[in-house]
Amino acid sequence: AFDRNALNFSGGPGALPAVVLAETRQAIQAVPGVGLSILGISHRSDWFAELITQTERDLRALLKLPDSYAVLLLQGGATLQFSMIPMLLLRGSGCTAEYLRTGYWSAKSIPPARLEGEVRVLWDGERQGDGFRRLPTADELECSSAAAYLHYVSNETVEGVQFQTIPGRDGVKRVCDMSSDFLSRPFDPERFDLVYAHAQKNLGPAGVTLVVIRRALLDQVPAGIPEILDYRAHLQARSIYNTPPVMAIYVVSRVLRWLREEIGGLEPMDALNRRKADGLYGVIDRHPDVYAGWANPADRSRMNVVFRLPTPEREADFLRRAESAGFSGLKGHRSLGGIRASIYNGMTLAAVERLVEFMDDFAHNGH
Ligand code: PLP
Repeated sequence: AFDRNALNFSGGPGALPAVVLAETRQAIQAVPGVGLSILGISHRSDWFAELITQTERDLRALLKLPDSYAVLLLQGGATLQFSMIPMLLLRGSGCTAEYLRTGYWSAKSIPPARLEGEVRVLWDGERQGDGFRRLPTADELECSSAAAYLHYVSNETVEGVQFQTIPGRDGVKRVCDMSSDFLSRPFDPERFDLVYAHAQKNLGPAGVTLVVIRRALLDQVPAGIPEILDYRAHLQARSIYNTPPVMAIYVVSRVLRWLREEIGGLEPMDALNRRKADGLYGVIDRHPDVYAGWANPADRSRMNVVFRLPTPEREADFLRRAESAGFSGLKGHRSLGGIRASIYNGMTLAAVERLVEFMDDFAHNGH
């Protein structure tokens, strides 16, 4: 049996593992071993300091992260990173930052960078004229060896396009917004200088953003940055610079534990996510008269499966029927319309199979 949470295909916040929801319910009553509600435990308690330590340890283990990188838990969402990054790496550098504009979210990352210095948009997907359906190939990117850094979004949540290889030039700092595919597959952290991801896709509820930063980047920090926007302040304070979102961090800690112990790490997570995505793209491709995938097939996201039906009326009918079959969150992002099935880590293969079955039925029955 599925409850509605298991069939929540929302783009964000995404569905969480049932076991994590159960642990969270329990923690709202009383955290085991503490006897207090997670909503009332002090962020200055030893328990919370240990929770931060444990969360960082689990993340490091999953990523096999060398000590030359720091892990920070910050607030302000992924959006605040759009500003904090150029403040640190572009301000006063005299260099140009290179950005890939591959969809809705990477487009949002560029204006805050322009406030801090020169920005060159290396690839503008909008110029392709088809609404960010494809990503650049390595040959299409002329990355400068003198750039301050390269910034890109590994998975465009709205359009459902995802890089399957790492763009950019080794030797130039590489900065990546992995908000909507962090920990969905393994990656080599040493090819990156700064990776960030808000929690509310693969990791937990909104409120906390994970940042993995090469420590050497903090050796030279431009003057004039307010302390709360200075990564060093958060590092020194061990991610307790001001009152952190204790409950959100608790949920993240449970998800990391689930990922390590129940799933077995990033390789099995990746294998599972591939099966989920293959199932959905399979049903789309089986019924080209009914479903049209948005992304160029080579760039298809394994997290956000975006597609259209031939008319807005049929899309409305699809959504209505899906809703009465127990599914939710399938309506596409407000900027793009259509349908989007988000299949983050917490979404089970069984729930995806159920959606695939529904889509096959919908197509066969000629609705
Ligand atoms: N980057 C990506 C890839 C996203 O999907 C989103 C939101 O969904 C954001 C950034 C903005 O995140 P936030 O709302 O946490 O600021």
